[in-house]
Amino acid sequence: MDKTRKIKQLYKSVPTIEGAGVHLKRAFGNREPEQLDPFLLLDDFHSSDPQQYRAGFPWHPHRGIETITYMLEGSVEHGDSLGNKGIIGPGDVQWMTAGSGIIHQEMPKGEKNGAMWGLQLWANLPAADKMMNPRYREIKSGAIPEITTQAGVKIRIICGNIEGMPGPVRDVVIEPEYLDITIPPETTFSHPVKSGHTAFAYVLTGAAYFDKERDSWARKEIGAGYMDLQRDCLIKNESLVIFDNGDHIVVTTVADPVRFVLVSGKPLREPIAWYGPIVMNTQQELRVAFNEFQNGTFIKYTGKI
Ligand code: FE
Repeated sequence: MDKTRKIKQLYKSVPTIEGAGVHLKRAFGNREPEQLDPFLLLDDFHSSDPQQYRAGFPWHPHRGIETITYMLEGSVEHGDSLGNKGIIGPGDVQWMTAGSGIIHQEMPKGEKNGAMWGLQLWANLPAADKMMNPRYREIKSGAIPEITTQAGVKIRIICGNIEGMPGPVRDVVIEPEYLDITIPPETTFSHPVKSGHTAFAYVLTGAAYFDKERDSWARKEIGAGYMDLQRDCLIKNESLVIFDNGDHIVVTTVADPVRFVLVSGKPLREPIAWYGPIVMNTQQELRVAFNEFQNGTFIKYTGKI
């Protein structure tokens, strides 16, 4: 097959308050989780005002998912109830598999000028792995390979494989690809994405066409954040592009460069029972999880991670 993926849906991220009062933009989450299967949520924390994020995300549980934090500016101090601790600094990634359960807190810290910018993606775990032992993968910025193509496109490879160069995160069930891509002006960039995998782009800065013909069509839908797509529509920051099926994407810039993350993964096609930070397959499993959290038996694995 040689089919360029068209845009299936375009959303603007929506201002949301989470944790103890953190102002963020939600690109997707908790609405039609089947549409982005195996991904559940993407939050964009971007602020130069510490008042908007200082309160952070105090102690909360996770089970049944992976949370993937990618810092662009500033850092996040992380700690869990078993005593694991770390700082996710600028350019670093924390790929946390909550599995059977983790109780942690995440506290954002700005740069000297107050700037803080990070993305948190939630990926679902298949039923067979929901109760696996938790694990952290802390990837320092320097361990993330960056390549520059002949056309001057810069790609940071967090997960996946570009021109034989693998990213540091491997052995994830959903076979994800997670790339941070910067395309200079007046450039067309084509990239293979496995047919059948869910794929989306989230624009960080600049503008580009994410459709080869520049006249994409998007299904009309009621709901906050939806954007109607027009002919010759340049897509700008804080926009989420969900791609239709195909085997590659084409992104074209004009006067401005563009920077975006491109994420894809294999859909799980399993029932989703989701409440807050816990995502299981059935309501019964959710009830068990919340009961265990209340009665202090939530944590199953107490070893050092
Ligand atoms: Fe969390």
